[in-house]
Amino acid sequence: MSRHTSLKVGGPVDLYAVPQDAEDLQMLVRQLTEQQIPWLAIGRGYNLLVRDGGIRGAVISLEQFNRIEAVGDGRIRAEAGAENLAVVRFGQQLGLGGVGFISGIPGTIGGAIRMNAGAYGEGVLQHTVCIALLRGGTVCEFCIDELEYGYRRLDLLPGDVVLAATLQLEPRDPAVTETEIRNDLELRRSKHNVGHPSAGSFFKNPAGQAAWRLIDAAGLRGASEGGALVSPVHSNFLVNSGNATAADFLMLSQRVKAAVLEQSGVALEEEVRIVGEEP
Ligand SMILES: Cc1cc2nc3c(=O)[nH]c(=O)nc-3n(C[C@H](O)[C@H](O)[C@H](O)COP(=O)(O)OP(=O)(O)OC[C@H]3O[C@@H](n4cnc5c(N)ncnc54)[C@H](O)[C@@H]3O)c2cc1C
Repeated sequence: MSRHTSLKVGGPVDLYAVPQDAEDLQMLVRQLTEQQIPWLAIGRGYNLLVRDGGIRGAVISLEQFNRIEAVGDGRIRAEAGAENLAVVRFGQQLGLGGVGFISGIPGTIGGAIRMNAGAYGEGVLQHTVCIALLRGGTVCEFCIDELEYGYRRLDLLPGDVVLAATLQLEPRDPAVTETEIRNDLELRRSKHNVGHPSAGSFFKNPAGQAAWRLIDAAGLRGASEGGALVSPVHSNFLVNSGNATAADFLMLSQRVKAAVLEQSGVALEEEVRIVGEEP
């Protein structure tokens, strides 16, 4: 899985499946269910820490599901594998905008929906009308107010696969969207250019606080365990400075959490999803 995640760590998965369309996916999930094999749907692995023992069962990549279409009333429907920037650009071409804040978030709409990815105080689910899921082998559509969600959180059932999302956009001059996109990408180039593979912010920001400040206050900017390093550029980025293992990241993460708890009394919670088995 180190080849499929931005942290570039993680042992092998038993089966890496790339279904071509919804029918293919349904058939795959039916077979896995019959044989009691667990599965995990992923996007581009920008928020995924896979343990060194890898993943027993199947990983399902939604990379072939990348169609985006206008569905009227200022709405667009994006399949799970569509890249966030492509979705913003699609809206821009139609004179629609409002989700410029996802332009620079690496990954897919499926991953963004699952994580309620966001920036500048906004989350993608605030702009989502409905979500198509594969649940229990059946395709079902949920309105957003039928689902529970919050900061970097959407409550789904184990095994749910996000197939597509319908976003509500608003009329916006394409030039304004262009400025939003460029500003976001530039800000990220200057602030997030940590020079090593990462998964973005490793920890969620606790209510009213910035995780990076707490990590700084605990004196852990630049701390390392093996090849895992608290970035000297952005201390909420844990990066792979070369040859890191998942165990290095887990050890460093525990050290950061313990130090912040002791220094500030705040229990940090990982934003990255940690999956897989110990070796
Ligand atoms: C440099 C950098 C900057 C970042 N900046 C931000 C930021 O500003 N804001 C932010 O929120 N995040 C940020 N991230 C984290 C990451 O980009 C987001 O979480 C993104 O939404 C992950 O998308 P993905 O497609 O790679 O999902 P993955 O990492 O592949 O998956 C993330 C989770 O969603 C699940 N999942 C993915 N697709 C599906 C699906 N179709 N159905 C069901 N479950 C699914 C996976 O199982 C996993 O639990 C950053 C990451 C990096 C590397």
